Amino acid sequence: MPTTAEKPKPFLLPQYCKGCGRCIEACARHCIEMGTEINPQTGLVPVVLHLENCSACGLCFTACPEPYGLAPQPEGDFELQDPARLFGPRKAPVETPMSVPDEIVALPEAAPLVTKGTYASAIGALLAGCRHFFGYPITPSTEGAELMAKLLPKLDGVFVQAVSEVATVNMMYGCGGAGLRSMTFTSSPGFSLMLEGISYMIGSELPGVFVNVMRGGPGLGNIAPEQADIKLACRGLGHGNTQAVVLVPSTPQEMLDLTMLAFELSFRYRNPVVVLCDGYLGQMTGKLKLPRSMVKPGLPGWAVWGDRAHRGNLVSSIQLDEADLEAHNRHLNRKYAEMAAKEQRADLFRCEDADVLLVACNTPARMAKGAVETLRTRGVKAGLFRPLTLWPFPTTALAPLLERAERIVVVEASPGQLEDELRLAVSRAGLPLPKIESLQHYGGMLPQQREIVERVLASVPIVREGVPA
Ligand code: SF4
Ligand code: SF4
Repeated sequence: MPTTAEKPKPFLLPQYCKGCGRCIEACARHCIEMGTEINPQTGLVPVVLHLENCSACGLCFTACPEPYGLAPQPEGDFELQDPARLFGPRKAPVETPMSVPDEIVALPEAAPLVTKGTYASAIGALLAGCRHFFGYPITPSTEGAELMAKLLPKLDGVFVQAVSEVATVNMMYGCGGAGLRSMTFTSSPGFSLMLEGISYMIGSELPGVFVNVMRGGPGLGNIAPEQADIKLACRGLGHGNTQAVVLVPSTPQEMLDLTMLAFELSFRYRNPVVVLCDGYLGQMTGKLKLPRSMVKPGLPGWAVWGDRAHRGNLVSSIQLDEADLEAHNRHLNRKYAEMAAKEQRADLFRCEDADVLLVACNTPARMAKGAVETLRTRGVKAGLFRPLTLWPFPTTALAPLLERAERIVVVEASPGQLEDELRLAVSRAGLPLPKIESLQHYGGMLPQQREIVERVLASVPIVREGVPA
């Protein structure tokens, strides 16, 4: 039996340590502590050994789940070698993680529900297979979270009220990394707090659905409806080269349908998806027809799932080598281009012969639709172009309408954020732009049908407040 002096002490190959801390718990002599330095090869933080008091008991080797993480100190000088040469060939061949596809489960026909927008979105999430909710309550989005808190425990799901929005998005990062479906409900100031984490999720290519029930801003603002975060969602999803599909429902039915779609797109592209609605739509009650099927999620092959097959997977947004980071950004750009080409969606109402195009989304689109009906009775050929995706903006559907339209009137509950998206998208697509007028309210005020009609009939170009013509 070897003496303590003869027994080997532990030796760490930092590039194989994932920093799980099991060896720290195993060591009764407190010889191992959490590290503070990120290993540039892995993006992880390996532990640090202090072996002055080490008894060479070997408990830490046993505790380490990594085959090459912590090993007995080799005799003599150590020369870094290929682990396969150092420890011999793997006993079992490396498994390739297979993707388990989603299953579509048929549902019986159900009577329609009458429910509010946030509830409709929560129901859509559950039908899309979401069983993990993380969030921090904020008006006017909280009812969606409340319904998830009631239903998820009955469905073997997980509801966590996080300590903050920052904690929320990082829990979603972890959940998405495991290949699971997660979501949050939030509202404008809370969404601002999540942006850094959303950038990390985009960088790491992780799915997750963010339902932002927008309220009045800037700052604390108020809890009334506003389309305050269009710019944030379309142009400012955290630091770096970020982009995500932004879906904009106008009815409780679309809250359900587009939330289900959000999960599908989020996993198809390995990217967060934003469902952007306003405080009025979140609270608005409407008829809800339930779909005839629901999703039983599979497991993507890239998931960091923790079993042997997925052991080789890594989720990280760190790329310390400049050339690697540029290559990663080019990869993201290709993904964004695919989203831009394939995921444009719009709803056209009486646009086929429209001389005047109203452009609106969310709750203001409802007033605009009523205005189109009234204008038609007054002999004005008006139509409503309603984007269902704000990013990508649906220029493909808009292009043929611009050949005929003489005027566009942008109706929105924001000081020009929708108009800016329209102008940018049309400009980038190289399309001709007719005269653009705008009808804007904000601070909780919504455009009214009557004033939209009056604005179109008056045909007076409106200069945006505070912005030179
Ligand atoms: S060999 Fe034993 S004493 Fe030494 S570090 Fe490992 S667990 Fe601690
Ligand atoms: S148990 Fe192994 S992988 Fe986990 S921290 Fe310790 S050395 Fe690293």
